Order: sequence, then C-alpha cells, then structure tokens
Amino acid sequence: MYNIKSKIAEEFISDSEIRDTMAYARENKDNIELIRTILSKAREGKGITHREAALLLECDNVDIINEIYDIAKEIKHKFYGNRIVMFAPLYLSNYCVNGCVYCPYHLKNKNIRRKKLSQEEIRQEVIALQDMGHKRLALEAGEHPVENPIEYILESIKTIYSIKHKNGAIRRVNVNIAATTVENYRKLRDAGIGTYILFQETYNKENYEALHPTGPKSNYAYHTEAMDRAMEGGIDDVGIGVLFGLETYRYDFIGLLMHAEHLEATYGVGPHTISVPRLCMADDIDTADFKNAVPDDIFFRIVAIIRIAVPYTGMIISTRESEKSRARLLELGISQISGGSRTSVGGYVKPEDESENSAQFDVADHRTLDEVVGWLLDLDHIPSFCTACYREGRTGDRFMSLLKSGQIANCCLPNALLTLREYVDDYASPEVKEKAMAMIQRLLQTIPNEKARATADKYLKAIDEGQRDFRF
Ligand code: SAM
Repeated sequence: MYNIKSKIAEEFISDSEIRDTMAYARENKDNIELIRTILSKAREGKGITHREAALLLECDNVDIINEIYDIAKEIKHKFYGNRIVMFAPLYLSNYCVNGCVYCPYHLKNKNIRRKKLSQEEIRQEVIALQDMGHKRLALEAGEHPVENPIEYILESIKTIYSIKHKNGAIRRVNVNIAATTVENYRKLRDAGIGTYILFQETYNKENYEALHPTGPKSNYAYHTEAMDRAMEGGIDDVGIGVLFGLETYRYDFIGLLMHAEHLEATYGVGPHTISVPRLCMADDIDTADFKNAVPDDIFFRIVAIIRIAVPYTGMIISTRESEKSRARLLELGISQISGGSRTSVGGYVKPEDESENSAQFDVADHRTLDEVVGWLLDLDHIPSFCTACYREGRTGDRFMSLLKSGQIANCCLPNALLTLREYVDDYASPEVKEKAMAMIQRLLQTIPNEKARATADKYLKAIDEGQRDFRF
C-alpha cells in the first residue's frame, strides 16, 4: 500500500505506514543504542527517515533531547549560517466557500466582515509594506471561485511586482492559495511567483474530512496531491506544513515528513519550505474546542527534529508564535520569520481594521518590523531581505545544490549583508542602524572567498551612494 513515488495521496501518505511508524517509535523509545546510531547519522547533515525521526520524537530521555537540540542548531548553522529571512503576509481577500471548522473564514461565520482588496487597495498595502522595508511577501486568500478567481490572484501579483515606491520593491511573491489545477499552477509560475505554499492542515484522512465538512477543500486527495500538480505545472519551489493542534502531533509529524520524502523521491527536490503553524484563537474559533493542542516543549522538539530530518528546507515561523517562543525556535532550526504582520484584509493601511473583525487569527507577536530586526541583531542573527536565488533562476534542485555545495558563505552571506545594508539606509531606526552596521562590518570580513569579499565591499559602497539591488 505505501508507495513513496505514487501520485495517489493514500499511497504516498499511507495511513498504515504512519500507524506502523508510531508503533515502531513506541516500541523502541528506550533503545538508547539505536537512538544513538540515528543521532550519529543525523550529525552528517544528510537527513533521517520519517521512522528515525518518529523515534527521536518519542524518546523522553533528557540527555538525548538536549543532543537533538544541539544537532539541530549545528545543522541550521551549516546550511543557513545565522541568517534569518524576513517576510510578511498580505491578505487579499477573506471571502471563502469552505467550511473548515478551525478557520474564521468558514462560510457560515457571519461575524466576520468579508472584504476583498481592489488593485488600488493592494497598491496602498504594498506601499505600506515597502515603507516598513519588506521585500518578500506571502499572499493569502480564502477560496472563492467568484470573488477570488485565479485571474484576480494573477492580476494582484502583477500589481505587486509593478509598484516601485521610493527605494522600495517587492522582489518575491510567495502564494498561499487553495489547491488548484495544473493549468492554474502553470499560470502562477508564469506570473513569477516564488514559492507555492499550501498547508495540509492534517494528513489524517478521516479527521481531515471531519475538519473540512463542506466546500472544495473537503476533497482530501485533491488537497494532498496539490504539490504534485504544482510540480507538474512547473513550480519547483513548494512549501508544505500542517496546522498543529488539529490532529495528534505524532500522526501529522510523520505525515509531513512522508510528504517531504515523497516530493524528494518523485521530483528530485524536496519542499523548499516547511511551515509549522499552531492553531490560534480567532473569531468564532475557540482553541479549547480542539483536543490536540501541542505544548511548547513538544513543539520545540518537533521543530528541531524536522530541521534534522530535512536539513535543506527553509523553516518558517509566523507571528502566531510569541517573542519568547520565537527566540527559542530560532535556535532550533527556523530560518524564516515574519515581522510587523497584519492578518486582516487591508490591515497594513488601516490597522484599526483588526477590530473590524476581518483578521484570520490573533497574532502573538505585535512588534514592528524594525523592532524584530533589532531583536534579531541582539540575538546575533542576520536579518536578511535576500530574494536572489529565485531571481537568478536558482529554484528547485538548483537551489538545493547551492545549499549542498556549501557555497552559502560566499553567496548567501554577502546577499544577506547587502540587503540588510539596504534596509539600514532606507528604513532602519537609528538604534537598529548602529547595530546592523557593526554586524555588516564584522561579517564582511568572514566571507571566505577573497574575490567575493571584495565584490561585496564594492557593492556595499555603491549602496551607500544610493544604488540598489545587487546580488550574488
Ligand atoms: N485558503 C487557503 C487554503 O485553503 O489553503 C490558504 C489561506 S489560509 C489564509 C492560510 C492558513 O491559515 C491555512 O492553511 C490554515 O492552516 C491557517 N489557519 C486557519 N485558521 C487558523 C487558526 N485559527 N489559527 C492558526 N492558523 C489558522
């Protein structure tokens, strides 16, 4: 039944394989010798299987857990250095025909004010985002064939890329919209999107169907096979994730890794990103009604083990998490975070709209982008606004081979410093500017390749003179 390369949802996400894996993990959780062999393999940075990962997650030995954290940190540094990529979500429309029982956009919710941005409103939102310093967005929309057809999404992407306000520019638009057809994925690719992101919510079919009682999203196979269609449509950067809290974390953790393995085995390229959202309070949604909430300590282990299992993937955490959890999660393998986010439609121009009830969920981190950037610098992470890879055609397996070749220090580090320098000149507060300039000066010297270092230095001077958008 389990077939990693099958394109049928119930074969590459096999329920019996997940259950067998859970049983294997339970049976071996005290087998320290076996666990140690997995840890040695993990240290090599080539990933571990879903079975091995499930066993690590089941183990409650404190020394082993601390070792897992250390390995996750090492791997994060090996592949991503201390760079943290910044992004912001942009909510286009909260019209939705689905009945997802955990989401305030569900069709029956009459409290929420339905809203869809016009192209002019998108322009205003994008200018507000550019004025904060953002270069990378994640577009979000409910599923509504009449209000939010693919043409609306495509037009919006075009509008976003066309806006040049002062030195601002959105250079990468990632898209998180409902599962769609190969033809539509091809259109999204042609529109120049970065990553196509779709959360599975849960991999448990029975539970999935209960959580999605009505609407097109209720089709488990169509949703689960979406990334296969996206690949067929030519999108080779795809982002997966589950909404932790809907199903038992053990089940979805294994399903998520099996999905990553399926993509890697079938297309030669694993997920570009993995997101780890946890269910939040929202209008008409009470988290107390869901029995599978994931406590912090387990959540931290989940993040660390995903980092170990899929070393090359970008790992994303949103403002659903508090400053405190985010600080810890950055240590355990997260490589992308959002900052200054608004989850309401039109919320960047009119923050008061949050109280008008169009928000998707309650954010836990309310800081401005500048505050988040300053905080990252204090924690010795490099806030990066880099979007170079996909603009240089380094997507899919080409992106993965850059990571695997270890050229990060000569390519990604300078790109991070250059985009941070742009942020400093155009948007940073005086305190953040001082901290960032010190970091840039210090890290410029650590670029190993002499030629790359000299070029980065030349570009930094050009930025100082007002030029923009240099990249390696
Ligand atoms: N409509 C698209 C779809 O069907 O996939 C995606 C857009 S939706 C705005 C983005 C994600 O928000 C969903 O995939 C879901 O995981 C998450 N979400 C929904 N309700 C949530 C809640 N109460 N707390 C946290 N995240 C939530």
